[in-house]
Amino acid sequence: MDVIYMDNNATTKVAPEVVEAMQPYLSEFYGNPSSVHSFGGIAGGKLKEARIRVAELINALPEEIVFTSCGTESNSTAIRAAVESYPTKKHIITTRVEHPAVKNLCEHLSKKGYRVTFVPVDGQGRLDLDYLFDHLSDDTAIVSIMWANNETGVIFPIEEIAAKINARGIVFHTDAVQAVGKVPVDVSQAKVDMLSLSGHKVHAPKGIGVLYIRKGTKFAPFMIGGHQEHGRRGGTENVAAIIGLGKACELAKNHLVDINSRVKGLRDKLENALLEKVPNAMINGDPDQRLPNTTSIGFEYVEGESILLMLDQFAISASSGSACTSGSLEPSHVLRAMGIPFTAAHGSIRFSLSIYNTEEEVNTIIAEMPAIIARLREMSPFWKEYQKKAN
Ligand code: PLP
Repeated sequence: MDVIYMDNNATTKVAPEVVEAMQPYLSEFYGNPSSVHSFGGIAGGKLKEARIRVAELINALPEEIVFTSCGTESNSTAIRAAVESYPTKKHIITTRVEHPAVKNLCEHLSKKGYRVTFVPVDGQGRLDLDYLFDHLSDDTAIVSIMWANNETGVIFPIEEIAAKINARGIVFHTDAVQAVGKVPVDVSQAKVDMLSLSGHKVHAPKGIGVLYIRKGTKFAPFMIGGHQEHGRRGGTENVAAIIGLGKACELAKNHLVDINSRVKGLRDKLENALLEKVPNAMINGDPDQRLPNTTSIGFEYVEGESILLMLDQFAISASSGSACTSGSLEPSHVLRAMGIPFTAAHGSIRFSLSIYNTEEEVNTIIAEMPAIIARLREMSPFWKEYQKKAN
């Protein structure tokens, strides 16, 4: 199917090289990597190699890499591990703009007796660092702050935050699911204790994730079972997916330049053209500190969901925010936290590009979008009212 796929923050195409690397471990070498026999050892050896490739991408040690099933599991494991490791500490700090994988867990924990501080952001989605540092206390079990926002692409200064939190001896976790593969992520520079990443955001398959755990970090496993992952995550490893992730990480290292030059150029072209051709349109989020592949654009007085349905008629796939919250007509919690006016928040959509996007695809969107918005506004009583007032 020929689609113009611009929803890469939701999930990515599995790279053909990744499929090729995985194939033999689904069909031929299906042994259990924990088995004593040499047939299982073939899988075990490849798993070891994949761990090295993942570690290399974020400049970690291979033994600091724990394979999980997804980014959500990694986030849950990190936060639950910290609260279990420090049972007397009852305070958690996170932000108002986290992915539901962190936000909903923290809200759940707040009902279980934890005090949760949600750090606010400004109108451009930038974190209030003073508020964050002022709320650190001896009672804080963990601080969990995303590296980059999935909806707006806004990047937080994780290196600076980690240094401050580290100095206080408090556990710091970052959800780097959207950052890895798009911007350099180096745990030898950013002193995070734990970091989550997800395979399906970096051209590996769905169902594989990673929790980086810095050597020496107090840890309690979430999945208790066998001795896999050195007892940090029980359960037979998803060997083929792990091998795929290893390959994807190797590719991601090489693709960083393309993402930050050509792909960023395509994103900028799309964004600039839409701002120029469509009246009452605006970018959500700090235009400078942003992922190179992401743009969140608010079109006033239209419904984001309606835009997406019309784009779909041209086989253009975009999103109104986190795939996990789509389907609800509420404006996203991220845009609400930024104080984006209701009129624009409702009409906000996200294009997120990948190395597979082309200039021709961007040109198609630029050609179709102005008419789509104009058509929707013709049907919008709010737009008519706005026009009446403006004239
Ligand atoms: N964190 C962020 C920032 C995300 O964007 C996502 C997925 O959209 C997740 C966590 C969840 O990852 P997964 O789908 O692998 O559970």
